[in-house]
Amino acid sequence: MEHSYDVVVVGGGAAGLSGALALSRARRSVLVIDAGEPRNAPAGHIHNYLGREGTPPGELLAAGREEVAGYGGEIVTGTVTSAEKVGDGEFRVTLADGGTVKARRLLVTTGLVDVLPDIPGVAERWGRDVLHCPYCHGWEVRDQPIGVVAGSPLAVHQALMWRQWTDSVTLFLNDADEPTAEEYEQLAARGVAIVDGGVAGLEVQGDRLTGVRLHTGQVFPLAAVVVPPLFRARADFLDSLGLATTEMEMAGHVIATAVAADATGATAVPGVWVAGNVADPKAQVIVAAGAGLNAAAALNADLIAEDTRLAVAGALSR
Ligand SMILES: Cc1cc2nc3c(=O)[nH]c(=O)nc-3n(C[C@H](O)[C@H](O)[C@H](O)COP(=O)(O)OP(=O)(O)OC[C@H]3O[C@@H](n4cnc5c(N)ncnc54)[C@H](O)[C@@H]3O)c2cc1C
Repeated sequence: MEHSYDVVVVGGGAAGLSGALALSRARRSVLVIDAGEPRNAPAGHIHNYLGREGTPPGELLAAGREEVAGYGGEIVTGTVTSAEKVGDGEFRVTLADGGTVKARRLLVTTGLVDVLPDIPGVAERWGRDVLHCPYCHGWEVRDQPIGVVAGSPLAVHQALMWRQWTDSVTLFLNDADEPTAEEYEQLAARGVAIVDGGVAGLEVQGDRLTGVRLHTGQVFPLAAVVVPPLFRARADFLDSLGLATTEMEMAGHVIATAVAADATGATAVPGVWVAGNVADPKAQVIVAAGAGLNAAAALNADLIAEDTRLAVAGALSR
């Protein structure tokens, strides 16, 4: 027989485990299904997580799994491929291995994929010395020469931001749109160097990035390179529920996709909540964990309302 839970949490990163912890402590039956590929896996440490500053990502998640299991929450490794509403008001969730489970509510915390620019070497070094977020990595490369490779409307913003951590920032225009006159003035005023021409690849010695190479062959020595990923919500399986992602634009370019939700994480499909990067691309780990808790509380309130309705109708024992 198909097992049925109060809540199936799809995705066991910071958002999912935080939600699962609150729901397990609320005495709900909870199953977390997790594919085991958290977004920050390439990074050595998590920064700006109060009380756990510098913890390796795997260590925080292992602690979270143990805490969830301590309150009876179940966690399995697997990939959810679809979810559908079934006749009795529940959802049926299907996994890639063909297994199915049922749930009264879904909490979707599947995160996002960083779609990286197609520059040789970038994917291999992502999260180590190819970076995007100064709050995650800025301190570690402070005072060192950093190159920002343009490719989205965020480039000038990124160059000005990283300037806070080092006074040696170079913006590589990489054949992207020219900055405006006002942006040129801002970059010059902050001492950001600008280099014209396309970036051919990264220079690496041993296992360390040493610079970028232009198509002209010219090499610029650097300690780290900043790129602008496209943030794409990992939400394809929600198509089966008719829940699409929405595009977030900046200056006419799509910079992210996300599942739209209200402040509690409730989506357009009743019974389905979202939290973390799948709904909010800029959420850092502690924010994703907070969103998981926030959604869990709203979802639990919805279940309490349903339990009360059923009790009034005499369909639920006390
Ligand atoms: C290189 C890098 C470094 C970073 N460093 C920091 C930092 O120092 N500090 C900080 O606060 N933030 C950092 N971040 C941001 C951080 O990664 C996110 O804030 C955080 O991962 C969001 O948590 P989440 O739970 O929403 O998603 P994730 O952590 O990505 O977790 C989602 C989980 O869902 C699973 N999943 C996806 N699809 C499915 C499916 N269909 N079925 C089952 N499971 C599925 C995934 O495998 C994954 O385990 C960094 C990001 C990157 C890219």
